[in-house]
Amino acid sequence: MDAGDAFASRILPGGPVSREAEAIENHHRRRSQITAEAYAEGVLSGDRALLGRAITLVESGAAAHQRLAEEVLERLLPHTGKAIRVGITGAPGVGKSTFIEALGGRLLGAGHRVAVLAVDPSSVLTGGSILGDKTRMEALGRDPRCFIRPSPSGGTLGGVARKTRETLLVCEAAGYDVVLVETVGVGQSEVAVRSMVDFFLLLLLPGAGDELQGIKKGIIEIADALVVNKADGENRARAEVARQEVARALHYLAPARPDWRPPVQTCSALTGEGVGEVWDVVKAFRLRAIASGVLEDERRRQSLGWLRRMVEDHLLARFHGHPAVQAILPVIEAEVARGAMAPTAALAALVRAFEGGDKEEAG
Ligand code: GDP
Repeated sequence: MDAGDAFASRILPGGPVSREAEAIENHHRRRSQITAEAYAEGVLSGDRALLGRAITLVESGAAAHQRLAEEVLERLLPHTGKAIRVGITGAPGVGKSTFIEALGGRLLGAGHRVAVLAVDPSSVLTGGSILGDKTRMEALGRDPRCFIRPSPSGGTLGGVARKTRETLLVCEAAGYDVVLVETVGVGQSEVAVRSMVDFFLLLLLPGAGDELQGIKKGIIEIADALVVNKADGENRARAEVARQEVARALHYLAPARPDWRPPVQTCSALTGEGVGEVWDVVKAFRLRAIASGVLEDERRRQSLGWLRRMVEDHLLARFHGHPAVQAILPVIEAEVARGAMAPTAALAALVRAFEGGDKEEAG
């Protein structure tokens, strides 16, 4: 078969592509037959297959899926909120997945059910992924009491973060009482994850002095605890020096929370030494935050923040998706760029197009 035949067989009915398309369509038809109620019941009863499918639904960008996803989330919402939500960040190679494996193992041993989610900014930029591609956390992944979900890919960081936040809620409804959200970052993804968790943990490498340089100061400021990992073998002494340096540096930063001074610890994710102590800090924080009402306040604030961001995203998408706006936007932008039109006049014209179109739509 030459190239032309190969091409024809791909586009002609019965060719591989149409069979594939048919399979995809069937798959969607099967999926769309599941009602919101069935999804919700499946998740609440701990059906892992339905949990996975519910999350795929939540992650889907298709409008029809989104409506169903909203309905599923609405049903699940009364069953959410009970987990400890912990964000974990640090440079690539610091030992995040090793740490999560060690911590997760302990938590399962203590009777918890653990969900591990990820927000991977590289999946947004390149469609690839730093966190997801390698086989990570194998032992945890095999344990039925643990649920691991890689970062949703594509779209904007805001979109990925929103899906992860919704996935977090689905996991809570499914009975996971510890949710770990891992991220690796360049700044933005940490802020996004910080706004969906109760406690934010920063892992650092031993390496005196230069330690703080690789990490953006803003990330140190939003951490609720800092842990120098790899404090084992020859690195043990260096890790302790790094810990002291970080603690000194922190001293000069205004604490993010008035009632909490982020502790700086060392641990070895590899041997497990110090990992339990890190979790003790998370537990102590949580107890205090519940007693003082800080936890509830913060979650309320986080929910409002998410709502506001979603309103902005939604309106912006409608604006840019509007045919009348699309028709005139390039021209108007060109006019503004060459100084022939004032930005205020341009705005007025765009709003007129948007709102005029809206009325037509409504009429
Ligand atoms: P991530 O990219 O932050 O998820 O880092 P990984 O968990 O994949 O770890 C990167 C490398 O560091 C791997 O070779 C790990 O075995 C190693 N590593 C992780 N934690 C420790 C630790 O506590 N001590 C030592 N010595 N090595 C570690």
